[in-house]
Amino acid sequence: MPVFEKLSQSSQARHWNDSIPLEYHYTAGVAGEEFRRELRDNGRFLAAKCSKCKSTYVPARLFCPQCFIEMKDMFPINNPGYVQSFTAVDRSRDGSKAEHPTIVALVRFESAKGGIIHRLQVDRSDQVVLGMRVHPLLKDKFSRTGALDDILAFKPLE
Ligand SMILES: [Zn+2]
Repeated sequence: MPVFEKLSQSSQARHWNDSIPLEYHYTAGVAGEEFRRELRDNGRFLAAKCSKCKSTYVPARLFCPQCFIEMKDMFPINNPGYVQSFTAVDRSRDGSKAEHPTIVALVRFESAKGGIIHRLQVDRSDQVVLGMRVHPLLKDKFSRTGALDDILAFKPLE
């Protein structure tokens, strides 16, 4: 099939199915690496604060998206998060009906932009209240790798 054929009308376009073998490595970036290291080593979430607009971001990022300046002030968040929004997922990955729904929440942190989307450790969605305080349940220190699955779930504060 000639691939250099010049088309004069879009209706002449043809397609074929094939595959292209690609290998790639994704890096989390400078701030992402710092965030992952803090999670792995100390079990905490790293935030970054902009020196110009004073906005704080969790997870930490290198540049303020409003001011376009580098954020050098990074520090761990010690406060619990809160549930900004949530949903119940009643399907497993293969599309079949799950035995129990998984509750997934956007967890945000006081005075910070951004947030972390993760599982919420509750049995039913009617146990979730918007704004409820949550803290992360983490793998033990020696099992953590710096990935977001170091977080097992977020658990409501008692
Ligand atoms: Zn800023």
